[in-house]
Amino acid sequence: MTEQHRTVGRVKEVTSLANPLVKDIKALALKKFRDQQHAFMAEGLKLVIDALDLGWSIKTLVFAKAGLGNPTIEKVAARTVAAGGTVLEVSEKVLSAITRRDNPQMVVGVFSQQFVALKDIRPRDGDVWVALDRVRDPGNLGTVMRTVDAVGARGVILVGDTTDPFAVETVRATMGSIFAVPVAKATTEQFLAWRRGFAGLVAGTHLKGAVDYRSVDFGNRPVLLLMGNEQQGLPDELAASCDHLLRIPQAGRADSLNLAVATGVMLYEIRRGALKLEDIRA
Ligand code: SAM
Repeated sequence: MTEQHRTVGRVKEVTSLANPLVKDIKALALKKFRDQQHAFMAEGLKLVIDALDLGWSIKTLVFAKAGLGNPTIEKVAARTVAAGGTVLEVSEKVLSAITRRDNPQMVVGVFSQQFVALKDIRPRDGDVWVALDRVRDPGNLGTVMRTVDAVGARGVILVGDTTDPFAVETVRATMGSIFAVPVAKATTEQFLAWRRGFAGLVAGTHLKGAVDYRSVDFGNRPVLLLMGNEQQGLPDELAASCDHLLRIPQAGRADSLNLAVATGVMLYEIRRGALKLEDIRA
């Protein structure tokens, strides 16, 4: 039998694309296998360090041969081993195959997926949550998560049949915020039941909304911002569950704003009083 990998200390050296560990990681490109393994992949040394610092559970650390001797990578490798994970040192060919990129990052981490249960979300004063109805585009979802993180909102609730927050494209678009922003998922019915117990303001956004988004006093109550699907907008039953249906005025010929842009505009309005320039991280 050909050797599938060579183990040096706690690190396995892998050069073959046929290696079963590599095959499992490559399979994470497909939702079916992400669900089976309950895992996902994140690229980049900084992201992996942030994830470990935030307590995410690492299953596998993959790094390029060229990273050997890099003290930061070695530290992360040691943390991975201490957490019970596997460390793979791979050729650039293997790393390109895993990430499907010609110039891959030197480090990739495979982490366990984490969702927050809807029943455990009990917003307090000042908290802002974003609910996305059937969001389809991974780029939109990732951008919304990044914006939620940036404005200091609490998290995202995915309603109905949505794109996967742990898809490679979504994770890339979050630019690391996947590890900072809690995500819950719910059917429309589960969401509506939870919403009935929500003691705050539910602000929906709608192209037919009668209220200018700038005219609402969001105050310090918990706010739930509800955004509609990219093609269809909010369905009637979700629109009916909102305290206000808000509209962002438009001047030109565009029918609507992009979902992530509209979410950003709304979040900056809702969080206007809470955000100070001095808070921006250096
Ligand atoms: N054709 C869809 C419709 O009729 O609603 C367009 C949906 S738009 C691309 C996606 C979501 O972004 C909307 O459901 C709404 O939540 C939000 N949105 C986009 N532009 C908006 C605006 N000018 N005012 C309020 N919400 C807006």
